[in-house]
Amino acid sequence: MYDILVIGGGPAGLNAALYSKRKGANVAIIAKDIGGQVRDTSTVENYLGYSSISGEGLVKEFADHVKALDIPVFDFSTVESIGVSEDSKVKEVILSDGTTYKAKSIIIATGSKPRKLGVPGEEEFFGKGVAYCAICDGPFFTGLDVIVAGGGNSAIEAAIDLSKIANKVTVVHRSQLRADQILIEQVEKLENVEIHLETQIQSIQGEKLMSGIKVLDKSTGKTSVIEANGIFVEIGYLPNTEIFNGVIELNDRKEIMVDRYGETNIKGIFAAGDCTDTPYKQIIMSAGDGAKCALAANDYLNTL
Ligand SMILES: Cc1cc2nc3c(=O)[nH]c(=O)nc-3n(C[C@H](O)[C@H](O)[C@H](O)COP(=O)(O)OP(=O)(O)OC[C@H]3O[C@@H](n4cnc5c(N)ncnc54)[C@H](O)[C@@H]3O)c2cc1C
Repeated sequence: MYDILVIGGGPAGLNAALYSKRKGANVAIIAKDIGGQVRDTSTVENYLGYSSISGEGLVKEFADHVKALDIPVFDFSTVESIGVSEDSKVKEVILSDGTTYKAKSIIIATGSKPRKLGVPGEEEFFGKGVAYCAICDGPFFTGLDVIVAGGGNSAIEAAIDLSKIANKVTVVHRSQLRADQILIEQVEKLENVEIHLETQIQSIQGEKLMSGIKVLDKSTGKTSVIEANGIFVEIGYLPNTEIFNGVIELNDRKEIMVDRYGETNIKGIFAAGDCTDTPYKQIIMSAGDGAKCALAANDYLNTL
């Protein structure tokens, strides 16, 4: 029986384990991989203490820190479900191979994945123009022409932010904008932002780097090419929470609902980072969230 089991090996999970261990808890990490989405990030320039570091380099720093604390890590392990005893004091984590671990508390840190366009060229030009996070990668496109794919709040916020650093921003959306009116009014006033609605992205083109996108104007049926150095795909995130459906309360975006201590609807089960309804999905937010959940889990253990 562990005091705390952490599910997930991204910044949220690793920091949750680190804080738990330093509080004296008997903790272990169960994760498919160590690093999470940070592994897929070429360069990180917004994590305090590192003006520029590769995603892999940052993961190594995180992993070395956890290793130094002798925290057991069950990686390459996929959690299939969790269970809770009737009095909610004993929790079970069940892996896909049937192995079951028991704990007094669980910290869920299963993260999310960006929703993709699913068009030709998207994979090929990932990191060569295709990006999924304007906050993270916007500065790499300073003075260049970029496209924002999407029409919701995150897309329009990204267009507004990018307009301050890019030469030109073209918003492309397959239907009408569904962002808040105040954001729409703001973006429409910007001189270097052009908006193409009812426009379907068909492919992303280029040679070594992306050079533009092919689009279909749904109202005229005509195709054309919009030239740009980059495209920010801002069409939402898919939280990795399907396995908790029916046990843990999720919102309509399938994010785990947590209180300000990171606790879910079940006492002693906490959730941190991108899998939760906490706003602003960033490495530092997830790491901070993990720390908060560990401290809250420790307070919970003290009540047992
Ligand atoms: C391309 C890209 C670039 C980015 N660039 C930046 C940047 O420059 N700066 C920045 O601050 N943020 C950046 N982000 C966002 C940042 O990476 C995330 O906010 C952060 O990694 C979230 O951390 P997390 O620990 O909550 O989740 P994740 O990093 O998603 O980690 C989730 C962990 O849970 C594991 N897991 C999931 N399901 C299961 C399961 N069923 N069983 C076992 N394990 C499971 C995963 O394997 C993984 O280890 C970027 C994101 C992307 C996609």
